[in-house]
Amino acid sequence: MVGKPQTSKQAEVQRIIDALSRAIAQHRLRPGTRLVEAQIVDALKANRNHVQAALQRLALQRIVTIEPNRGALVAQPSAAEARDVFAARRAIERGIVESITPEAMRRHRQRVTTHVHNERKATNATDRREIVRELSEFHLMLGDICGNRVLSEILANLMVRSSLIVALYQRNDVPSCASDEHEEILDALSEGDHERAVRVMVEHLDELESQLDLEDESAPEVDLREALSGL
Ligand SMILES: [Zn+2]
Repeated sequence: MVGKPQTSKQAEVQRIIDALSRAIAQHRLRPGTRLVEAQIVDALKANRNHVQAALQRLALQRIVTIEPNRGALVAQPSAAEARDVFAARRAIERGIVESITPEAMRRHRQRVTTHVHNERKATNATDRREIVRELSEFHLMLGDICGNRVLSEILANLMVRSSLIVALYQRNDVPSCASDEHEEILDALSEGDHERAVRVMVEHLDELESQLDLEDESAPEVDLREALSGL
């Protein structure tokens, strides 16, 4: 199609990226799931070229892996990558928390109040997807409130990768964020107590990481000469 504005293509690719990222973040698509282009085209009423472009962008973001001859799969981060993602979250979320002023908290009071209400409601119910969504929404909300688009974009990527990591390495199936820690961070931010907000956030992220089983290193070293001798 000639003359279709570039922006509409970009918007369409972004729509597909958002839908796939959401499905991954909510554990509807598990690590290692094959992402068959034709099925995505069908499910999202999208154009095949746009789906391909979206998958390539997600591959650059380490959310999808594209394997020659096998096509696209939902990424399966290694234990080492999982540790790096959590180290990055500590750095980024510390930066986010440090840049949120009490004025910004006041400006976003409605959204914060609604979120606290929804998070409590979700954690008191049993819809696991809803709980996962609300708990991760807390972190994304702080990214928005801080007003730094670069920090919030990096965080959005790290949050999707965290969902993959939780799906792969979480020791038990209980959603991991503690809501009272979330609320303590919000209280500290409203009071302008950055020191406390940063301390609770870092402890919170340490706690999330400690619930993961990251000891299992990848395949043990194999001596190929020995394994292949006599064949
Ligand atoms: Zn949390």
